[in-house]
Amino acid sequence: MSEGSLLGRLAATVFGGSCYVCRGATGRGALICSACERDLPGLAPERCPRCALPTPGAQVCGRCLADPPDFDATIAAFAYAFPADVLVKALKFNSELALAPYLAGHLARMLERSSAVDLIIAVPLHPQRLVERGYNQSVEIARALSRCLRKPLATRGCERLRDTPAQAELPLDARKENMRGAFACSLALAGRSVALVDDVMTTGATLDALAGAVKRAGALSVENWVVARTL
Ligand SMILES: [Zn+2]
Ligand SMILES: [Zn+2]
Repeated sequence: MSEGSLLGRLAATVFGGSCYVCRGATGRGALICSACERDLPGLAPERCPRCALPTPGAQVCGRCLADPPDFDATIAAFAYAFPADVLVKALKFNSELALAPYLAGHLARMLERSSAVDLIIAVPLHPQRLVERGYNQSVEIARALSRCLRKPLATRGCERLRDTPAQAELPLDARKENMRGAFACSLALAGRSVALVDDVMTTGATLDALAGAVKRAGALSVENWVVARTL
C-alpha cells in the first residue's frame, strides 16, 4: 500500500472518505457508500446447494449430479458482477487489504456461527505468486472470518504445488484436468469439517482440487465459503 493511500485511509477513518466503487463521499469509517452497497449483487435464492449456481427449486445442478465435486456445499456472499467485482479486484490486485474484513463481514452474515465447520483453510497461492503479490487475498478474507466466527484458521499444512496461470483460458473440462494434483495437504483432518475460503469461485475447479486434497487428509465434509460466485 502506498503512503498516499495509507494517509488517505487514515483521513477516511477520521473524516469520512471516498467510496471504493464510485469515489463519492462515504460516512465516517465506511469503505463503500450506501448507494453502492445497495447495488451489491446477491445470488438467486434458489441455487444448487453444492456449487451455488441458480437451479429451479434449489435442486442439485446437472453438472454436480453428473460429476460430483469433492466439496459438499458452497456459500457465496455475492454474484461476481458490478460492483462486487470491483471490490474483489481491488483486494486482489491493488493491495486494498481493508476490503478483506469488509467482504468477510458480508460473507459471515450468510454463515451461521453454530455451523458444523471446525476448521478454516484459505486457498493457498503458489509460493511464486505469493512473492510477487506480497499477500494472499484469500488468507486475508479467511483471517477476518476466523475472527468474526470464532473458528480456527489453519495457516499452514496446505500447499499449492503447481502454479496454473493459464486456467482462465482453458475450457471447463480442461480446467479440472489442469488442477489435478495442484494441492497437497499434510494436516491430520480425520473426522473434521472444513471450510475452504476463496475470493471468487469461477468453475469451481480450484476448490474441487483443494477439497480433494483435504478429503484425502481425512476431512469428513468440506464447504466452500467464497465472496463472489461467477454465474
Ligand atoms: Zn459508491
Ligand atoms: Zn451444482
